Amino acid sequence: MSKLMIIGCGGVARVAIAKCCQNSEVFTEIMIASRTVSKCEALAEELRPITKTVITTAQVNADNVEELTALIKGYAPDAVLNVALPYQDLTIMEACLAAGVHYIDTANYEPENTDDPQWRAVYEKRCEELGFSAYFDYSWQWAYREKFEKAGLTALCGTGFDPGVTSVFTAYALKHYFDEIHTIDILDCNGGDHGYPFATNFNPEINLREVSAPGSYWENGKWIEVPAMSIKREYDFAGVGMKDMYLLHHEEIESLAKNIPGVKRIRFFMTFGQSYLTHMKCLENIGMLSTTPIMYEGREIVPIQFLKALLPDPASLGPRTKGKTNIGCIFTGIKDGKEKTLYIYNICDHEECYKEVGSQAISYTTGVPAMIGAMMVTEGIWQKPGVFTVEEFDPDPYMEALNKWGLPWVVDENPKVVE
Ligand code: NDP
Repeated sequence: MSKLMIIGCGGVARVAIAKCCQNSEVFTEIMIASRTVSKCEALAEELRPITKTVITTAQVNADNVEELTALIKGYAPDAVLNVALPYQDLTIMEACLAAGVHYIDTANYEPENTDDPQWRAVYEKRCEELGFSAYFDYSWQWAYREKFEKAGLTALCGTGFDPGVTSVFTAYALKHYFDEIHTIDILDCNGGDHGYPFATNFNPEINLREVSAPGSYWENGKWIEVPAMSIKREYDFAGVGMKDMYLLHHEEIESLAKNIPGVKRIRFFMTFGQSYLTHMKCLENIGMLSTTPIMYEGREIVPIQFLKALLPDPASLGPRTKGKTNIGCIFTGIKDGKEKTLYIYNICDHEECYKEVGSQAISYTTGVPAMIGAMMVTEGIWQKPGVFTVEEFDPDPYMEALNKWGLPWVVDENPKVVE
């Protein structure tokens, strides 16, 4: 029996909340708290007739630690699930510490204003020392380790699909199939078609920042950075077919490199269609992906935020998207002195997801693991004081929950590897 506060009421939150409501034996009470309370109320109205979970709603600005702390103290949940934006990670962690509750999220910290000189100084030092230039990294959240340890609280970072399930797949492969994992290729394939020439499957600002940044991978103890979209491979995905995929920087590479002993190389690939890439390149070339404010007719606007207002709302893609996703990891390594290869993946159908919870598969594959991560923490299955990523816990109960709650996985012991 758990009481959970969920912050944010966008695409991912909708699925996480619907799944908590299906799992009402565990989540007896939830509060949906977000910036726009009317969205929380509308979702609560939709779910109340079909769940035993008691749902309340609240308006909150999660950038404001005091306001959020007061709300958490008033509701007194067992944990807070952050499915707002990565911009709010640190303020929500602060509020959880002040209120004495556990913290869970799906994406690591990224600043909203990348021109902030204080942040920029730390960022530039990190780029030089570590060798990757993504705006997001774990250092900001790992800096809270001691505070969470002292408070006896758990912070579980990155329980979406990638990061999240992909790291649990890694822990599971290491526990049951390998003595040593040497390479990990994380493959994220979206074979869905929404019929628009250009749209993003989750928050456009976060998505476009990620995809237009240089790619990087981990090899022999260091980061190797390459220009955006410069490493391309083809792969024949089960349930989807042949797709082009491109190497991207991704946050779980950073934690897996620390937590998987002996790993020599970790790469992340995502599939993109030609139309998406051409549109993105054009938008980038004309400055529409910039996060730096400009003056337009006497008013300050941020180009990427203006673009977000023009693009289809990711939530509106649900009823239009057909096809499947296939996300998973290919491992190579050693078992009993012999070389071994293994692929663990999940296939998810956009239309089935829409039928079940009114969202497409990208939100579904993130929202289900967000609920499972929250359950692991609130039920005491994954609790230890400090700040952790998901591969640092026993993967078995989480893997079981994936099968039960809509993301069944497949183990292929003879996969084709990526060159
Ligand atoms: P959306 O933009 O759809 O939703 C974000 C929600 O957060 C909105 O309801 C928004 O409110 C709310 N919000 C934003 N700022 C604040 C604030 N200051 N205070 C309170 N609420 C706020 O995003 P998504 O659902 O697509 O993504 C949610 C999270 O999931 C992101 O962190 C994203 O990076 C992560 N993600 C993780 C993935 C993974 O596999 N690990 C994959 C996909 C996403 P409003 O309604 O007013 O705009």
